[in-house]
Amino acid sequence: MSDRWLRRAYSILERHLGESVVTDRPLAKETTLRIGGPAAVFATADTFHHLRVVFETVVDYDLPWFVLGKGSNLLISDAGFDGVVVRLGRDFRRIEVSGSEIRAGGAMPLSMLVQAALKHALGGLAFAIGIPGTLGGGIAGNAGAHGGCLGDIVRSATVFLSKGELRSIDKSEMTFGYRESSLGQDEIIVEVSLGLRPADIDLVQMDMERFFRQRKETQPLHHPSAGSTFKNPPGDSAGRLIEEAGCKGLSIGGAKVSEQHANFIINTGGATALDIYALMLKVRRRVEEASGVLLEPEIRLLGAFSEELMETDHAR
Ligand SMILES: Cc1cc2nc3c(=O)[nH]c(=O)nc-3n(C[C@H](O)[C@H](O)[C@H](O)COP(=O)(O)OP(=O)(O)OC[C@H]3O[C@@H](n4cnc5c(N)ncnc54)[C@H](O)[C@@H]3O)c2cc1C
Repeated sequence: MSDRWLRRAYSILERHLGESVVTDRPLAKETTLRIGGPAAVFATADTFHHLRVVFETVVDYDLPWFVLGKGSNLLISDAGFDGVVVRLGRDFRRIEVSGSEIRAGGAMPLSMLVQAALKHALGGLAFAIGIPGTLGGGIAGNAGAHGGCLGDIVRSATVFLSKGELRSIDKSEMTFGYRESSLGQDEIIVEVSLGLRPADIDLVQMDMERFFRQRKETQPLHHPSAGSTFKNPPGDSAGRLIEEAGCKGLSIGGAKVSEQHANFIINTGGATALDIYALMLKVRRRVEEASGVLLEPEIRLLGAFSEELMETDHAR
């Protein structure tokens, strides 16, 4: 950490958050791709008080910040992130089931929500089995699979605005599209209410098992990845286009287009962010040449990536 303001911000945060804030924390272990350089400052906000202190400080010092969930939809640059990475901790991992409503914190893993839905014989969330993210990350990107998505079942969300206020947002005020939501960049999702429906527990379990089996059969789950690399273009499948463009098995360094699912780029061991990014660009270019379709990334990028650099050196 070199920046003077970051150092000052760190010493304020350390006073309030103690060991929950550290400097120069490598982010690779915080992502499912197992890639990423350090965060200059990494803070785990276990309470609302912590969250308030973190954001008062980043706003006061005008620092770049990023909210991290499970890091399952992220490619973080090898140089890391020269700002404050915030992760929601303890108090944001609570869950309450009341009738057919599940109310949970933004840091709650989707896998635990799915299990809670099963335990209480609630239908409507089986699609989320095997999605390795948090509820907050899932709402931000409207995670979905098997024809379902979180946007379909959300009733309301409570967001913390980086300026320090809490706001409750009703479903009628939100819109959800394909892997996107209308929630703003500075809205941190701290709690969500999901509306499910009473169902036969055996049927819920059967759906979950079926969806999970499909995942195991079609996705390279034994290698680190960030899930689907590109969004499906309207009426088509990114995987099909990538396969047709002859990209299956293509690799750069430790990054490889999965043989099992062409829309997954896997880390075969020791891949850098540059490898993954270069391979994304190469695949995108080949698909455009082969089909005229310009794929849009589904994976979100954090940190510095230079497209020109890739186009000239690494991706050829
Ligand atoms: C093997 C595998 C399979 C996958 N399958 C699917 C799938 O079937 N369907 C699907 O949609 N996705 C899938 N994904 C991608 C990923 O799991 C989802 O996009 C997930 O919702 C990301 O959540 P996260 O907590 O990991 O978010 P992160 O990756 O940590 O962050 C993603 C974005 O969400 C934002 N964010 C995170 N938490 C919050 C918060 N509390 N408030 C506001 N913004 C927040 C971040 O700032 C970032 O912009 C898969 C990934 C893997 C590795």
